[in-house]
Amino acid sequence: MKPAQFEYVAPSTVAAAIEALVASNGEGKVLAGGQSLLPLLNFRMARPAVLVDLNGIEGLSYIEDRGDRIAIGALTRHRELEHSPLIASKLPVMSAAMRHVAHLAIRNRGTIGGSLSHADPAAELPMLATFYEARIAVQGPSGRRTIAPRDFFVDALTNCLEPEEIVVEVEFPLLKQDGWAFEEVARRFGDFALASIAVSVCRGPTGVAAARVAVMGVADTPRRLREAEDELVAIGLDDTTPDRFAEIVVSLVAPNDDLHASADYRKHLLAQLAKRALLAALAMKG
Ligand code: FAD
Repeated sequence: MKPAQFEYVAPSTVAAAIEALVASNGEGKVLAGGQSLLPLLNFRMARPAVLVDLNGIEGLSYIEDRGDRIAIGALTRHRELEHSPLIASKLPVMSAAMRHVAHLAIRNRGTIGGSLSHADPAAELPMLATFYEARIAVQGPSGRRTIAPRDFFVDALTNCLEPEEIVVEVEFPLLKQDGWAFEEVARRFGDFALASIAVSVCRGPTGVAAARVAVMGVADTPRRLREAEDELVAIGLDDTTPDRFAEIVVSLVAPNDDLHASADYRKHLLAQLAKRALLAALAMKG
């Protein structure tokens, strides 16, 4: 298949990209890595009148240490996140998750801005943004605003952006943690996840003092499970904790049946992954 005809615009600044989107009267689409958009164009599931290519804009690709957070430019490729020593030391859950994102060729081109905007419910970066409570900075005709993941991801493949807005940066606050784990099952390595969980824990004198838990592949958007975090702190630590934690996690999700897996199978996977992740996170304490 070939795309329907479109006008191609290659601006050199974010302001010019926004101007092009405004001029398109809602008929424009931004092109970043093209790994999700080009198939949609080729199958004519997307038919924008104007394609605004961000790749010529300088200064949108960076990974920056800002002390208590890491800032990532929207055009930063998946492969750069996967291999960044800064990401490995400051955002280890992201570092572990990135190798699960698609295949090498896709990671070479795909960008964080594109992945968040595409909002696939089984994609790693939206889930990581949810896990870390990232701040998603977007720019549009009326300036810049920052959006929390729970507001940004509205539904499967749906974000809250206005048609003229562009994701420009994502800030990930650092997490205090003694241990962490990222677990995922996909049909083949590099496929979208059937289920996945990220867990981090701070240990206290009698158990878990604080926890962070997020899941994907089991709802229409990635989800942070605050109730599971609170329960994990409340139930204390003994041999039954991993099973109880898995039960709590599964009780908080209601996946749909689809052609990839039944809802029951996804729940079963999530329970196993939750146990495995908690044990791995607890074992990490030196
Ligand atoms: P594009 O394809 O260029 O754009 C995607 C969408 O986002 C478009 O609607 C575009 O208009 C919009 N957009 C892009 N950038 C911006 C921006 N800065 N601001 C506003 N809107 C923007 N991803 C995973 O996470 N895990 C996987 O396992 C996985 N497997 C894949 C397997 C295959 C076979 C393929 C083809 C893709 C897979 N992907 C997977 C998706 C991949 O990670 C994409 O790179 C990503 O979803 C989109 O990023 P992109 O930069 O290529 O965006």
